[in-house]
Formats: sequence, C-alpha cells, structure tokens
Amino acid sequence: MTQMRTLKVALLGCGNVGAQVARILIDDADALASRTGARLELSGIAVRTPDARRDVELPADLLTTDAESLVKDADLVIELMGGIEPARSLILTAIRHGASVVTGNKALLAQDGPTLYEEADKAGVQLSYEAAVAGAIPILRPIRDSLSGDRITRVLGIVNGTTNFILDQMDSTGAQFADALAEAQRLGYAEADPTADVEGLDAAAKAAILASLSFHTRFALEDVYCEGITGVTAADIAAAKDAGFVIKLLAIAEKLSDSEGNEGVSVRVHPTLLPREHPLAAVHGAFNAVFIEAENAGELMFYGQGAGGTPTASAVLGDLVSAARRIVLGGPGRTETTTGHVPALPIDAAVTSYYIGLDVADQPGVLARIAQLFAEHGVSIETMRQTVHREPSSPATSAELRIVTHRASEAALAATVQAVKGLDVITSVTSVLRVEGV
Ligand code: NAP
Repeated sequence: MTQMRTLKVALLGCGNVGAQVARILIDDADALASRTGARLELSGIAVRTPDARRDVELPADLLTTDAESLVKDADLVIELMGGIEPARSLILTAIRHGASVVTGNKALLAQDGPTLYEEADKAGVQLSYEAAVAGAIPILRPIRDSLSGDRITRVLGIVNGTTNFILDQMDSTGAQFADALAEAQRLGYAEADPTADVEGLDAAAKAAILASLSFHTRFALEDVYCEGITGVTAADIAAAKDAGFVIKLLAIAEKLSDSEGNEGVSVRVHPTLLPREHPLAAVHGAFNAVFIEAENAGELMFYGQGAGGTPTASAVLGDLVSAARRIVLGGPGRTETTTGHVPALPIDAAVTSYYIGLDVADQPGVLARIAQLFAEHGVSIETMRQTVHREPSSPATSAELRIVTHRASEAALAATVQAVKGLDVITSVTSVLRVEGV
C-alpha cells in the first residue's frame, strides 16, 4: 500500500471560526484524508494570546505567536484573523512561499483583492474565499464553476445577517430602528459598534465579490454604491407592509445596457422593497440568501446561515479540501476568469422600480397633475393608491398617495421627485424607496 502524503496546514486565528476549523481538522482527520488523498496536518495556530481561553480544547503546543514562521513552512494556509494587517502580509508571504491560501476575510478582499489574486496567479497557487460571502452557503463556487457555462444577468443577495435581523424585527413587531438594533445587540447578532453592518459596508464588500465572479470582471469596493438601513423608519416598514412589500437590505449586481447597446454592471447595496411573495422575502432573522437569475438556468436561490463559527468553518473546510486535492492531483487548478471587462455603472444609471409616498392636498385634478409630471420625466406609473384623511372638525382633507413605478433610471426618478416637490398641492414626500421583484 502506498503511503499517503501529508500536507502541512497553518491556521492563522483561533476565534469564532478558527477554533471550529481547528476542531474539525483534528476530529475529522481520517474523513478529510480520504476525501483529499492526503493527510491534512494542523502544524500550528497563530494567535495573539496563546494562553487565552478557547471555545474548543486544543493541544497547547499548537498555539504560537510566530505566525510568520508557521506560514513559511506550510503547504496550505488558512487566514481567519480578520482585519487588514498582518493578515495581508502573511497571505502574501504564504503565496510567495508556494502555499495555497483559504480566507474568510471580505474586508481584506474588498480592499486589496486584485493584488492578492494576481500574486496567487503568478505563484500558481489557489486563493479561495467561500467563507467571505454568506458564511456557510456555498455560493461562490456555484457562481464560478457550476454556472460558468451560463450567463448570469442579475444577483440579489441578503448577505448581512445583522441587518436582516433588524429589518425582520421591525417588520414583525413594528419597532423603530434603534430598538431593533438594541435587541440585535442584546442577542449577539450585532456588535457593540454596528457601523460596518448597519451602514451597509459589510454587504458592499460582499457585493463587490459577487459582482466580480458573476460578471468576470474585478470590481472593487469603490465601484459599489452603498446605502445602509439607519434611515429606515417604522413608518416606512408599515407603509411597505400595507402595500404588500417587505424591506430588505439587498446587495445587487446586474448587467444593464443602454439604448446604444453599451453594457455595464450596476453594483449596489440599499434598502429595497420586495413583494411579500418573493423568495427573498421569506428569509427571516439572521439568515442569508442569494437569488441568481441566469440566461439558461433561470432563477436559483441559495439559502442558509450567513455567519457563526461552525457554519462558516464548513465553507473554510470545503475550500481547504479543494485546494489540497489540487496539490495532490497537480495541474493548473481552478482560475477565475476576468475577461468580462464590463465597466461599473454609477448609481444614476441604475434601473429599478420605485415606491414613492406622498402627502397631498385632496383637491380635484391632483392625481392627474402628478401622473402627468411622471409621464413628462419618462417614469411610468404601475400602481397609484390614494387614502383620504378627513379631519372631523374641519372640511379640509388631505390624502396619502402611494405610487409604484415601472422600471426607470435613478436619474429620471430623481428629476421626477424634484419636480413633484415643486407642486403646490404636495405637502411632503414621505418616502422614496427602490423596489425589486415586481
Ligand atoms: P475572531 O473571533 O475575532 O478571531 C480572530 C482570531 O485571530 C483570534 O484568535 C485572534 O487571536 C487572532 N488574531 C487577530 N489578530 C492577530 C494578530 N495580529 N496576530 C495573531 N493572531 C491574531 O474572528 P472570527 O469571527 O473568527 O472571524 C475571522 C475571519 O472570518 C474574519 O475575517 C471574519 O470577517 C471572517 N468571517 C467570520 C464569520 C463569523 O461568523 N464569525 C463569518 C464569515 C466570515 P486571540 O484569540 O489570541 O485574540
């Protein structure tokens, strides 16, 4: 019987995810060896404080503060420290020493992905990062491999569990944003400083990754238009609910072409109204889901846990086995294609439907004036609902108008809203929200 070779695995970080990866590497060593064709030997775990309490029991001699030496002596490196430095330098050292790297560090990939991908290509090693988007959900590999013979047209993702929990809480209890955030923090779904989540920055980093793989072009964080959920009010949620919608923070990447046939990709993160019957509307709590539309496959949805140590470790191990198999079998391995060369479009060029809430004077001819103004700006109305409020003590009445438009460009919609605000019969524009899935 031939001796199975051993591959040295260096683990950087032993926190929420790293500790679970270490546990699985040790506990499931035999199963992983049979799937890989090599034994995966955990050669060491780099941390800041070796004697800190860990979530799992590990041999003390595996823990070290000397990450650099560990990396230089490894066949495979798993980076689960987070942050930019020293993660970035250690990944580059690993690549230059010929090790394949698995990481879950979306912040680093969004900031410096292109340098890391190029270095990995040059060195002929793999850089894999399934855990960086939607935790446990296998989404990057299906986009990159399973759908590589198709043409993806649109990706809609709930890729941040914290904001989905908050919006779901607001939807189900009528709570204001601040109260729902406090509840998320109490339950451990939101960090003490929730900025990266609630301002949409975490989702934007993931949107850049999803767009890059879907459209075979490298998009960076600065290509992503980003609007978080801090401005979403209980009144917005209630009005959306009343009109048959739910509000979700979506990461959207879609290919658009203008009247001359020039193609571009709109990559954006913003609160979005979805019809309550849309598959993404059924994603509750801190769960994640990614909805893909492809020319031949049609509609696909991927759903599961977007975070958590053990679920995320599953995605890390999948990447590790794949990278290890490639070392065992040889060959060029999997590469990402970047031959799309489609430019990122500014937010003005985004095309979507809109929900507009207006308080208006209840006078004859108001609806016709508003409809005409929309038509003059090339924005066509799909539905317009009016609710009249009559003051018991006075003859004066006001009305609330809820308009859903057909797909229109962001620029045309902005001009329409500006013009509507100038009408003397308008008391206020109560909300302008983008709508998908209608
Ligand atoms: P974490 O709990 O904060 O753990 C970080 C680990 O890295 C700790 O063990 C820490 O050591 C070590 N570390 C940090 N800086 C270091 C340094 N300068 N030198 C040596 N060790 C250092 O982080 P996590 O939640 O596991 O997340 C890890 C990565 O996975 C991040 O990039 C995150 O974005 C990504 N991710 C996480 C999740 C999730 O659910 N948590 C989901 C998807 C992706 P000490 O323990 O000694 O402090």
